[in-house]
Amino acid sequence: TYVVTDNCIACKYTDCVEVCPVDCFYEGENMLVIHPDECIDCGVCEPECPADAIRPDTEPDMDAWVEFNRQYALVW
Ligand code: SF4
Repeated sequence: TYVVTDNCIACKYTDCVEVCPVDCFYEGENMLVIHPDECIDCGVCEPECPADAIRPDTEPDMDAWVEFNRQYALVW
């Protein structure tokens, strides 16, 4: 899965949301998150992010971000 990290905070671009084929972005007041169970790992959103905030969970130390994204995807 891909998840959104802190570089997203206060970024106003939503190009990532537009390109996602499964609509798994959720928008809060200050940032977006990806529902990690709905993401199909296609990767098309990553290059659309001007803030480099969208990262694959295969990078080191991503567990907390996966949980953060899952938690807020459910409430937003
Ligand atoms: Fe959507 Fe693909 Fe990005 Fe996952 S990797 S959030 S499915 S665009």
